[in-house]
Amino acid sequence: MTTRLLPTVGTCLLALGVAVSATQSTAPRPLRIIAFGAHPDDAELRAAGVAAMWAAQGHQVKFVAATNGDIGHFSQAGGPLAQRRTKEVQECARILGITTEVLDIHDGELEPTLETRRTFARKIREWQADIVMGHRPYDYHPDHRNVGVLLNDTAVVVGAAFFVPDTPPTRGNPIYVNYPDGFTDPKPFEPTVVVDIDAVAEKKWQCVAAMPSQFADADSWQGRTLPNVPKDEAARKTYILETMKGWLAADADQYRPQLIARYGQERGAKVKYVEAFQLNQYGRQIKPDELSAMFPK
Ligand SMILES: [Zn+2]
Repeated sequence: MTTRLLPTVGTCLLALGVAVSATQSTAPRPLRIIAFGAHPDDAELRAAGVAAMWAAQGHQVKFVAATNGDIGHFSQAGGPLAQRRTKEVQECARILGITTEVLDIHDGELEPTLETRRTFARKIREWQADIVMGHRPYDYHPDHRNVGVLLNDTAVVVGAAFFVPDTPPTRGNPIYVNYPDGFTDPKPFEPTVVVDIDAVAEKKWQCVAAMPSQFADADSWQGRTLPNVPKDEAARKTYILETMKGWLAADADQYRPQLIARYGQERGAKVKYVEAFQLNQYGRQIKPDELSAMFPK
């Protein structure tokens, strides 16, 4: 795994719109990434691999669940479920070597209000994010869609000095990227960067296994909605995990041309599991190869 720090201060901060004198240090500094998910498992499913790789390279990664997940189960709900899911993503964060936070907003009730826009902007500013990740506003769940809307709505104001002036603005506008989803109306997801996560896939599976409320309980979402789920607990856990692996393997096959373009024919043809990201049009705009260079390889 190569270390890919942000380019030298002279180039990156200029790109961020910050004036840099020739006498300042050109030592690379770690990237700061903040990844939003609608629920306490979404950022984990979409970005655990790149998060683990970035963290191992010395970059700073934070996951934020925009809601507390308190209706995400078929036989538990409310405060106890929110606390259980918070503990689950904290264990994921420990496994991945990152920071995590769960916002205390009810699951299923995230709205793109001005107050929530301020909350999102504060989180991005507090983290001084270089890269902001989240759902597209076309995803299936209203909370997912509203995360997409809220992130789009922060893109122009996170660097504005007098928007939420209690929190220092970001240095220029961060780069925003979106997670994949399968929805094509009004427009399909088109990856800008596809990352081979095979080297850290085991950490991602450990992370999934650390969220039994979603991926092991008989009354978990997957336990209730996947077809032919085994009744035996151990078999069910394995079955759900293998299903998750299958979804990521299908993404690798779908994005094989992009993998071969990024890694070359030999490695690109062999990659088993991937995470994919699309440059969002509202954040700072950079060329695809510049974005690719900021992601783990
Ligand atoms: Zn979700």
